[in-house]
Amino acid sequence: HASPSFSIGPKSAAAFENARKLMPGGVNSPARAFGAVGGTPLFIDRGEGPYLYDIDGRQFIDYIGSWGPMILGHQHPAVVEAIQRSVAKGTSFGAPTEAESRLAEQIINAVPSIEKVRLVNSGTEATMSAIRVARGATGRNKIIKFAGNYHGHVDSLLVAAGSAAATLGVPDSPGVTPGAGQDTIVLCYNDCEGLQNAFAEQGDQIAAVILEPVVGNMGCVPATKEFMTALRELTLKSGTVLIFDEVMTGFRLAYGGAQERYGVVPDMTTLGKIVGGGMPLGAYGGRADIMDNVLPAGKVFQAGTLSGNPVAVAAGSATLKELETHPPYEQLDQRGNQLAKGLTQVAAKHGVPHQVQHVGSMLTLFFNPDPVSNWEEADKSDREAFGRYFWGLIEEGIYLPCSQFEALFFGIHHSEEMIAQTIDAADRVLARG
Ligand code: PMP
Repeated sequence: HASPSFSIGPKSAAAFENARKLMPGGVNSPARAFGAVGGTPLFIDRGEGPYLYDIDGRQFIDYIGSWGPMILGHQHPAVVEAIQRSVAKGTSFGAPTEAESRLAEQIINAVPSIEKVRLVNSGTEATMSAIRVARGATGRNKIIKFAGNYHGHVDSLLVAAGSAAATLGVPDSPGVTPGAGQDTIVLCYNDCEGLQNAFAEQGDQIAAVILEPVVGNMGCVPATKEFMTALRELTLKSGTVLIFDEVMTGFRLAYGGAQERYGVVPDMTTLGKIVGGGMPLGAYGGRADIMDNVLPAGKVFQAGTLSGNPVAVAAGSATLKELETHPPYEQLDQRGNQLAKGLTQVAAKHGVPHQVQHVGSMLTLFFNPDPVSNWEEADKSDREAFGRYFWGLIEEGIYLPCSQFEALFFGIHHSEEMIAQTIDAADRVLARG
């Protein structure tokens, strides 16, 4: 691993030492521990707009946005106010509220495939539940997922998973029984022929295909048009439920997510991150006839003490309202193009093997001479070069996801000047090789 030339502030260093005694690896989610780049994570005190401040008082431009949710930046006034109004009325009732129906309506109006929706507490719960409903609705057991795609830590989906699982070299986790994975078929992303063969052999046994329509979890890798078309045609023909996991892409690549942007409508969709406006909230939804299999309308069990939590719903609702009334998507696309172009130029200038891949406000600079369309190709990227780049940018006050196999995110506050400043910093860092 790259040895960090950046010296972590004394307060972060002490806080991490303490945290490691209390929590496994010192963190509550593995990617945060900086394991992939070697070193000590920054402990965060607060965020404001596009900035994060660590407990040593240093400022960073935030290109993680809490791994996706913070498209409106930290402490957006409309979101903060909605949370405060809601929390003043109580934090949880375990009974229906009108606010839940308002958020459900916003989601249904936004996302083309969703006719009915259920609110849950995380992206993991959303994908876990969607898979169960697809199996219940079709009476079939098998599912297809793609190597390098991450759908949360659901046992049956933790096979050849992206994100921290790929980064830390544990794509198949101990503790997942062979039984849990035996009905999961893992295929290569963007491989139309592999998909056709799987359907030709056992299409009538496949309950669902789940995928990230633009992958963020092996770095940014979009699905090709041909792959999307093949997915939709094959699943329609065999009565398989097509699930877009839009936990990352939902409300980010367009208000209606990747499905709006690419004009391909799946049968079910999973949401998380932005839909909760920075609070713990996920959702899954789809065709009404599929969703009506869920208890108590149907027989597929799924429940949650805190599901539809009023404070989380208030944050999500305020976030979606802001995105609908002031759509930032054109601006985000422009900034994405600016960042991609700038990073490509400076990488080329310094002779760094590179591949900048981006869609809207998701972007990855792969230290890889060839285009990346699947996990096998992503895996060939130079992790050490990424580590040096990561620490170099931290030193410059720029906070990127700490892995080659994650996409960066930015939001409405990342100005043209801020993107230019980021490119200049990358120029200085890549000059050192
Ligand atoms: N699906 C995708 C595409 C994700 O990116 C993630 C989280 N990064 C999840 C599911 C799981 O969501 P959560 O971490 O909220 O459980």
